[in-house]
Amino acid sequence: MRTELSNGGARRAAQVLRGRRMLACAVCGWVHYAMTPEEKADGDRALARYRLSVAERLTYESAFRQCLRCEAPVSEFREARESDLARAASHLVTPVLADDA
Ligand SMILES: [Zn+2]
Repeated sequence: MRTELSNGGARRAAQVLRGRRMLACAVCGWVHYAMTPEEKADGDRALARYRLSVAERLTYESAFRQCLRCEAPVSEFREARESDLARAASHLVTPVLADDA
C-alpha cells in the first residue's frame, strides 16, 4: 500500500523527469535518466563535506557510469523506448551520467 510520502516522491520525480532524456540499459532494461553536468556538480558539492576516501570516491563516481541493477557500463545503454518507460513506471528511475551529456 502506498503512503502519502511515496506518492509525493513520485510526483516530484515526474517533474524532474519531464522533458528529460531517458536511457535504458541494453542488458537488463533498467531505465535511467540522463543527469546534467550541473546536477552532477551539485551532487559533488553536497558530497564534499563527507570527506570520502579515494576508494569511496571512485565507488561514488562509478555509480553514475553504470546500470544500477546489473552494473553494465553506460556505453551499453540505448535510448529508452515507450515499452521501457512503461516498465520503468513501476520502479525508481535512477540517474546516470551519459558520456555525451
Ligand atoms: Zn542493467
